[in-house]
Amino acid sequence: MTKLLDGRPPAERIRAAIAAEAHARAARGAPLGLAIVRGGGDRAVLSYSRLVARLCEQVEIRAAFVELAPDASVASLSEQISALNRDASVHGILVTLPLPPPLTVRDVAGVLAPEKDVDGIHPVSAGRLLLGEETFLPATAAAVLELLRAYEVPLQGKHAVVIGRSNIAGKPAALLLLGEHATVTICHTRTVALPAITRQADILVVAAGQPELVRRDWVKPGAVVVDVGTNWVHGRQVGDVCFAEVEAVAAALTPVPGGVGPLTNMLLLRNVVQAAARQ
Ligand code: NAD
Repeated sequence: MTKLLDGRPPAERIRAAIAAEAHARAARGAPLGLAIVRGGGDRAVLSYSRLVARLCEQVEIRAAFVELAPDASVASLSEQISALNRDASVHGILVTLPLPPPLTVRDVAGVLAPEKDVDGIHPVSAGRLLLGEETFLPATAAAVLELLRAYEVPLQGKHAVVIGRSNIAGKPAALLLLGEHATVTICHTRTVALPAITRQADILVVAAGQPELVRRDWVKPGAVVVDVGTNWVHGRQVGDVCFAEVEAVAAALTPVPGGVGPLTNMLLLRNVVQAAARQ
């Protein structure tokens, strides 16, 4: 029977550690602060930013929304982010994506202070990750590794296959697995004969954004499968892995929801604690 890689217990341990640190700082009059920059009225952005603010409140991190005008220019975005860079009460800056067009993540990266880049989107953060140096990791990718560590999944020498090459999930997850001495294959939309590759995986990480893409015959019996996907299908959240089929073959599998997701949010907040420690 497959083992459930439940993200909630490790997320709760991290939450408790963050809460203790944040409380200690608040008690000495130096609370942790996170600025959440948002704009454009995208529904997913609104609900995600509200969720992050609520989690911050629960652990005594001061979250403040910074609203971008619907017609915000690169110059006004730069001005707002520069002000946050200078504000000593703001330890981390989260820019929720997508931004109102034509603004892109590149416009943010050009101005955001790397020491406040708690979402790991700055080229300096990405470069440090590539070099294997300590940095702010994109929380989603960090959550994949945190989950594998929490359940003591051996990585060294294992074949890890990652589906997805986005800058926030697939690519950084692949680099982190490489850092743990796994042999890593990255797959994407142009990969030929994908199931033949995934069937070779000891560890399969799926971050494709395609509901139930991975079927039973894509998975080697005894593999560990981490499903990053969060897709809404007929009002129900489903992953990128067909849970009902894959649980019959995988040694361990993440539920969706309740796997990678809870850890992702906590690791973002842990980056705020780490940012404050470094400032
Ligand atoms: P993205 O769209 O930016 O990237 C998807 C990647 O998957 C691309 O590199 C693409 O080449 C690849 N891909 C897509 N369809 C494929 C297919 N049929 N075969 C092979 N490769 C394919 O998405 P993202 O931002 O990396 O997010 C991926 C998924 O993870 C989404 O479902 C998203 O909602 C979810 N997500 C979850 C969390 C969490 O905390 N659980 C956080 C962020 C994103």
